[in-house]
Amino acid sequence: MSKRLFGKIALVGTGLIGSSLARIICREGLADHLAIASRSVETLKRAEELKLGDSNSTDANEAACGADLVIVSVPVGASGAAAEEIQPALKKGAILTDVGSAKVSVIAQMQPFVPEGVHFIPCNPLTGTEKSGGDAGLADLFENRWCILTPLEGTDPTALEKLSEFWRRCGSNIDTMDPQHHYMILALVSHLPHIIAYNIVGTADDLETVTKSKVIRYSATGFRGFTRLAASDPTMWRDMCLHNRDAILEMLARFFEDLASLQRAIRWGEGDKLFDLFTRARAIHSSIIEEGKNIDASGHFGQAVGHPQVARTSDRPFATTPARSLPT
Ligand code: NAP
Repeated sequence: MSKRLFGKIALVGTGLIGSSLARIICREGLADHLAIASRSVETLKRAEELKLGDSNSTDANEAACGADLVIVSVPVGASGAAAEEIQPALKKGAILTDVGSAKVSVIAQMQPFVPEGVHFIPCNPLTGTEKSGGDAGLADLFENRWCILTPLEGTDPTALEKLSEFWRRCGSNIDTMDPQHHYMILALVSHLPHIIAYNIVGTADDLETVTKSKVIRYSATGFRGFTRLAASDPTMWRDMCLHNRDAILEMLARFFEDLASLQRAIRWGEGDKLFDLFTRARAIHSSIIEEGKNIDASGHFGQAVGHPQVARTSDRPFATTPARSLPT
């Protein structure tokens, strides 16, 4: 079977995700021609040095011209402007996709600029590292990770299968999901942990009685590992909070409820209750680790814990789930 999937692929944005895709597209020979676009001359120059594509331009429109697959890989807040820029270049029958972590917002931003006859299929690869930029890209970033496709109503099944095959060739496991559901799932498995990590680092910094050197010295007890997510890119996480706002607020509300219950148990010395809660949480954690064992071996982290539960919960609307995730 031929390895080539597309004649021309255009990549708009060559940061962590874009450059990782470029490396895989080249390694796997997924296209005859890979056109790279990045807005700044410095980033483009670096992409050239890294030999990420066959052609390079600061003009996304030029890169997208005649492409069979166009992948927008810019911060979520910039996806609408990117779609507007490439709109005139998109050819009939082309597949347009993105990799943004907040699907509802990306769809609202990009869809108005999708020309008739172009297949717009939003995606979100559930992977990442705390690094950003073209140098941080990895050819195995998507290996054994989930890629969620959020097709819109009326999506052409052939185009959907072709894009799924592309992600499979990148090493990903595929799942499709309603954008609204993606919104809630990601808020829980990815956005909430990042927000908590950012916040707890801030809390430590605010504690005047605890010096920074002590925090650093004793952080191996859990703090360092727990706060690893706080090393993530501030632009991306600002955009996540702004563009996945309602889902994040909903998850934070649930989290506060559970935390308040835990706080109360601690205040009133309810040892049995605490023991039951921690025992139950440990069992849930073990099952998560067990289910994700095979696909988390790569050591990448990022948006989500890439385990099958992400897919399995897709038929259960969050609005009807009980407010508490753990019994109290
Ligand atoms: P990144 O490493 O920071 O790279 C961002 C890229 O977008 C760079 O090429 C940058 O070009 C370009 N860019 C930045 N602002 C722009 C703007 N206003 N208009 C046009 N281009 C702009 O980011 P990333 O981590 O690859 O993230 C890209 C997308 O992937 C985001 O939508 C994110 O939600 C999604 N994603 C990220 C992860 C992750 O863990 N990082 C995981 C899954 C999905 P210049 O350098 O020239 O400014």
